[in-house]
Amino acid sequence: MDIVLASRNIKKIGEMETLLREHMSYIKVLSLDDINYQDEIEETGATFEENALIKASLPAKLGYIGIADDSGLEVDILNGRPGINSSRYSGENASDNDNNDKLLLELLNIPVERRTSRFVCAIACVFPYLKNAYFTVRGTCEGYIIDNPRGSNGFGYDPLFLCKEYDQTFAELTDEQKNLISHRGNAVQLFIQEFSKHIEVLK
Ligand code: IMP
Repeated sequence: MDIVLASRNIKKIGEMETLLREHMSYIKVLSLDDINYQDEIEETGATFEENALIKASLPAKLGYIGIADDSGLEVDILNGRPGINSSRYSGENASDNDNNDKLLLELLNIPVERRTSRFVCAIACVFPYLKNAYFTVRGTCEGYIIDNPRGSNGFGYDPLFLCKEYDQTFAELTDEQKNLISHRGNAVQLFIQEFSKHIEVLK
């Protein structure tokens, strides 16, 4: 069974295919390039779920089962910012360092125990032709934003995110450790459960 991941990020597609095929060996994950989808994707939603649904709907309109994810960091004392703007927090084309610097500036003089935070990952799945045949799942991972970056693995806000489960930053964990407890890992597990239920109904 082919499903199309609405992304052009080769690393993300490979990662998702590995995670999904561990439990569902019958699926093959295609990219937007594989189905010759050329247009830009506008992420105009107000939530992670809305953005994931916008993206997953694109392959579904062309007759494929579409899936997409949208993720980011929420900081409670910043009313959930950077949230859906995580990748462009300090402006379009911002680097990870720019975004991290902006976050630390906003949290200046706020003690770590009040910097509660979570990573969020929503995954949407849209089935073709069937009206209202879609679902979303949400995985989270709780932690704190620390002042001094720690660790060199990962990307984005990883060096600043002290994960509660390990008392280490995401950037100090191996990929395997991170996948076990991360927002994305949790969302993929929930996705697999929901997808299997939907496939049973459609059979
Ligand atoms: P995307 O939706 O997966 O492309 O993620 C959007 C943005 O959220 C990324 O550019 C990062 O800034 C942030 N982000 C999402 N997941 C992670 C993570 O696991 N570690 C660090 N930053 C993340």
